[in-house]
Amino acid sequence: MDDTRHYGFETRAIHAGQRPDPRTGAVIVPIYATSTYAQDGVGGLREGGYEYSRTANPTRTAAEEALAALENGRRCVSFASGMAATDAVLRTALRPGDHLVLGNDAYGGTFRLIDKVMTGWGLEYTVADLSSLDAVRAAVRPETKLIWCESPSNPLLGIADIAGLATVAHEAQAQLVVDNTFATPYLQQPLELGADIVVHSTTKYLGGHSDVVGGAVVTNSDEVAEQVFFLRNSAGAVPGPFDSWLTMRGMKTLALRMERHCDNAERIVAMLADHPAVTKVYYPGLPEHPGHEVAAKQMRRFGGMVSFTVQGGEQRALQVAAATELFTLAESLGGIESLIEHPGKMTHASTAGSLLQVPEDLIRLSVGIESPEDLEADLRKALS
Ligand code: PLP
Repeated sequence: MDDTRHYGFETRAIHAGQRPDPRTGAVIVPIYATSTYAQDGVGGLREGGYEYSRTANPTRTAAEEALAALENGRRCVSFASGMAATDAVLRTALRPGDHLVLGNDAYGGTFRLIDKVMTGWGLEYTVADLSSLDAVRAAVRPETKLIWCESPSNPLLGIADIAGLATVAHEAQAQLVVDNTFATPYLQQPLELGADIVVHSTTKYLGGHSDVVGGAVVTNSDEVAEQVFFLRNSAGAVPGPFDSWLTMRGMKTLALRMERHCDNAERIVAMLADHPAVTKVYYPGLPEHPGHEVAAKQMRRFGGMVSFTVQGGEQRALQVAAATELFTLAESLGGIESLIEHPGKMTHASTAGSLLQVPEDLIRLSVGIESPEDLEADLRKALS
């Protein structure tokens, strides 16, 4: 369907970008497993203007239209991974000597790319507490071109006031990028709050079944979209048609899954908050979370990610992370199955010794959609 803007989120999730196949009537967009497209005479491209699958592929186009519609954005450019999407935004928006403000809690891979790769190309960055607009203002310089925000952040579930950050960025003639991987467009729509660019690891909730790696950039700016598209076509980090198809299938049930992820996370949070072995629970749905009010304003619910620290330090945290049966000890998040991990030794090992270093007794949960009583019992047993 071409224009789904007037429909609700769940309707857009099912219909945006989806058209019955013109030849067969297939209701579901096929997996166009083709690298190239026949031309009617040199330059005579057929419907859709497809030429070569690094540039564009119909399955990928359908997935991109669907995600753009879910974020209430005009354009989506998808990638082979979330990091490829992040890399494309950094490399299109920044030139040597430019400066970026990065949150003091962010995915370890994003930090590694900025700190270890981009600085080699002359990018400078400052780490700031994004929950404080004053701290962000103080970090901004005349050369600042981007503010890079995760809200909720990975893994400490910090909350930034996205509308406030957009104002700070625009006052400085900079752009606000929001990595919306944790929240998903079902829970939070950063473009509506004033952000310029949304980045996703579609590997996570959008794909939703831990069976595909992918990423995406969504924006309302044709200029940004064209630049990101140009870089993707030039550098080639495209998702294949099957990956795009899996992501698209996942997105159709995003609303249902997110409701259940939130329900289950709330139950786990209630249990952890009362548990004698737990020293702190990080979840923006808790009234005592410093970002709770902002989160309640800009999010529909508080998500399926929960972090907590335990009595007994790192050793005990490592033991608990290895003691569950249903929560699988693994990196990643956002799938239907519950996962548990130790960020300090796993997803965020690259932040050791930096301003983004995570507590060593921290455990991160991606709460899945299994029966809540089973998840609760599994964690209780691991904590006992
Ligand atoms: N952004 C966030 C918040 C993430 O958690 C991740 C991966 O864990 C990424 C970006 C990178 O995505 P990918 O692993 O798909 O490259």
